[in-house]
Amino acid sequence: MSKPTRMIERRLRSSMPLSVDDSGEDMDLYRRNVLRNGVVLMVAGGFAPLVRADSPPMLSQSDPLAQALGYESDARKVDKSKYPQYVAGQMCSSCSLYRGTPGAAYGPCPIYGGKDVAASGWCSSYAKKP
Ligand code: SF4
Repeated sequence: MSKPTRMIERRLRSSMPLSVDDSGEDMDLYRRNVLRNGVVLMVAGGFAPLVRADSPPMLSQSDPLAQALGYESDARKVDKSKYPQYVAGQMCSSCSLYRGTPGAAYGPCPIYGGKDVAASGWCSSYAKKP
């Protein structure tokens, strides 16, 4: 075996778990671990679209401004006695301030500093899109 080949082999062995050797038995354990970790990564990858790492945070209904403006993440639950200007069918997705892409479940609203609001939500700052 040439010196460079031995160096490469030594380097590869040093990156493997200590239990790995040429017996074959430990290699099976190593392969099982690689397979199991791969499955875990694939499962985690399947949930990746649910994690919105680079998008703004969702507006919470407990946010003080949201409470002051009567934000409701489900427009059907708007208290009509408190907000008589609400008309059934109004929702963030049809508000001129809404910045979400059409069809998205949520999108930014400048009233709340660009935080995401539910497309099906509503608040008293609603202004119908022209
Ligand atoms: S201003 Fe418009 S888009 Fe923003 S939360 Fe209120 S209704 Fe929704």
